[in-house]
Amino acid sequence: MTARIIDGKALAEQVRGEIATRAAALAARGEQPCLAVLLIGADPASAVYVRNKVAGCEKAGIRSLRFDYSADVAPDVVMAKLAELNADPAVHGILVQLPLPPQFDEAAVLEAISVEKDVDGFHAENVGRLSQNQEAFIPCTPHGVMKMLESTGVPLAGAEAVVIGRSNIVGKPMAMLLTNAGATVTVCHSKTRDLAFHTRRADILVAAVGKPRFVTGAMIKPGAVVIDVGINRLTDGPDAGKLCGDVDFDSAAQVAGAITPVPGGVGPMTITMLLENTVISAERAARRSGR
Ligand code: NAD
Repeated sequence: MTARIIDGKALAEQVRGEIATRAAALAARGEQPCLAVLLIGADPASAVYVRNKVAGCEKAGIRSLRFDYSADVAPDVVMAKLAELNADPAVHGILVQLPLPPQFDEAAVLEAISVEKDVDGFHAENVGRLSQNQEAFIPCTPHGVMKMLESTGVPLAGAEAVVIGRSNIVGKPMAMLLTNAGATVTVCHSKTRDLAFHTRRADILVAAVGKPRFVTGAMIKPGAVVIDVGINRLTDGPDAGKLCGDVDFDSAAQVAGAITPVPGGVGPMTITMLLENTVISAERAARRSGR
């Protein structure tokens, strides 16, 4: 079997077109969507993510505000900026790029963002709402994965889904979304015994581990849909310097029914869902103010 490729780039372009239309309609009603992004420190990967988010906003007709702080900034300074942005009616989304320097209490920072503007979906109240299947801002990466799964037409209700990884930003919300969609979900992690026993039963397999080419074809059920969330930079071997996922694409593609590539899979969908959450927030604000 040779798997069908799930093209995240093409899907992201299509969804971004729809988002741009909604953003233009909002702007015409006097409510231009606006995302504020805070970058603290000089982590090169974080700087790239922030640059891509700001560029994504610009293309979609979403205004962006960017605030950069040095790594040694006092937490009070950032907290004061968050309070100011929370109170600003022209700002619809607020995002603090993670990870944060050690002087910060990450949970306290995330909870200082207004629930209504928490477009990353990391505030404890949004996490709680998601777990209760109530309206919430859904974390962007697992939300993008759901859109990709929907695009394949694979039935989620009743499917066996296995998520590898239990982080707050990918694995746990992913498991919640799949559960809400009616899948029978198993969450595997670093303490899981016999990982392959679980993965070989999966109709839908989501890998969010952070280990290059960790999931091989031998671990995959024939015909499964395989979603590779991992983004890893190879440091040695013939492909040194290249990006790769958590799935060994070549062996997995021989067994899976459908698979996402890296790059060009989940990555482009993540920023797309951030843009969508910002537009959703602006639409809610417009409704509240009767625009
Ligand atoms: P994390 O380090 O917070 O979590 C990794 C998870 O993998 C942990 O829950 C851990 O228990 C599990 N794990 C580690 N070793 C394991 C093993 N041997 N067997 C089973 N489970 C194991 O990482 P994260 O933030 O969830 O990110 C995971 C990957 O996804 C990374 O490569 C990251 O770069 C990538 N990522 C991509 C996007 C995107 O937009 N595509 C967004 C976020 C994260």
